[in-house]
Amino acid sequence: MKPQPPKSMKADVVVVGGGIIGLTTAIRLLELGASVLVVTDEALPARTSSVAAAVWYPTGVRPGHDLTVRAADTYAELARQAADGVPGVTLGPCRTYTAAPDSAVPDSAAPDTARPWWASAVPGLRRLRTDEANGPWTDGWSFDAPTVDMPVYLDWLVTHFLAAGGLLHHRRINHLSQAAVWAPLIVNAAGLAAGSLCGDPTMTPVRGQLVLVSNPGLRTSLRVQDHPEGFTYVHPRRTDVVLGGTFEVDRWDLSPDATTASAILSRCTALEPRLAGAPVLSHPVGLRPHRPAGVRLERDPHLLPATPVIHNYGHSGSGVTLSWGCATETARLAATT
Ligand SMILES: Cc1cc2nc3c(=O)[nH]c(=O)nc-3n(C[C@H](O)[C@H](O)[C@H](O)COP(=O)(O)OP(=O)(O)OC[C@H]3O[C@@H](n4cnc5c(N)ncnc54)[C@H](O)[C@@H]3O)c2cc1C
Repeated sequence: MKPQPPKSMKADVVVVGGGIIGLTTAIRLLELGASVLVVTDEALPARTSSVAAAVWYPTGVRPGHDLTVRAADTYAELARQAADGVPGVTLGPCRTYTAAPDSAVPDSAAPDTARPWWASAVPGLRRLRTDEANGPWTDGWSFDAPTVDMPVYLDWLVTHFLAAGGLLHHRRINHLSQAAVWAPLIVNAAGLAAGSLCGDPTMTPVRGQLVLVSNPGLRTSLRVQDHPEGFTYVHPRRTDVVLGGTFEVDRWDLSPDATTASAILSRCTALEPRLAGAPVLSHPVGLRPHRPAGVRLERDPHLLPATPVIHNYGHSGSGVTLSWGCATETARLAATT
């Protein structure tokens, strides 16, 4: 659906940013009965959000109880949407491998001493069985993970937002104070740019390069988070497979690198041999909005003299994984501001 210019430029809340964080937040605010204007400086879908892999899995963020709760909320929401047939959202099998310290293949009755910090967010998480070892990857976890085809899902989010009465405006702003003309409450959800809009110098790009190939019939997501040669994951979607990847801190370059692409292909094919010879479709590159201190989700009553701001940015490699949980929390803060 093509966004229409808003009839009135005034709203109860203005959300700066139309990526996964801005759109989910805007929808939660609408559900509370607020009128909401989303302002973005680029035509949607937002570039970073549209290249995300995008599998539910916390990456590049600091562990903590709050994040586990938000990740759990998002898991539940995406699982519900998958069951309801929301376009682009599926729930499918996922294995995350690690090398066992002593290379012993664990049996499923082994004590779960190394459970991931986010384990409580995932129903049905279990340790891999002996027969599920994959080459040198002899330990790890199995669970069902929500997976999102982002271009399809972002389109659905925009359509849903507009159909529910939301307003959309394409305009670049240089400071959050400029957004105060539209509403008495501002949400800062501008991704990597959020820091420069509010004077936070710590925001850093973390470059991610992917390879998309045709799907030779795969269904299970595979991931080796601590692969010595770099991030490695194989995420099947309906017709293609997302192969990753890289996690390059402070690198801004958006051009795909050929050597990196062939290294990704070879790591992923070692993990999933059925990928051999799959036709390559494209080489997406994106910049994760990384904040070393972690996600910033808080009220900021002091940034502007008369307009309160709520920040919701810095989701690094977990913007999809945390989206609905952070949106719900932001809307809760807005309702009490
Ligand atoms: C290769 C790669 C793979 C990834 N895989 C996963 C994954 O598997 N799972 C997962 O959870 N996450 C993943 N991520 C991370 C995820 O993509 C991000 O965390 C998420 O997209 C961030 O969303 P956002 O809405 O904060 O930012 P963005 O998508 O960047 O949106 C920012 C918005 O702000 C607007 N904006 C910016 N500046 C201005 C301005 N000055 N004025 C007005 N508007 C402005 C933009 O127009 C845009 O609409 C991946 C990222 C990459 C790059």
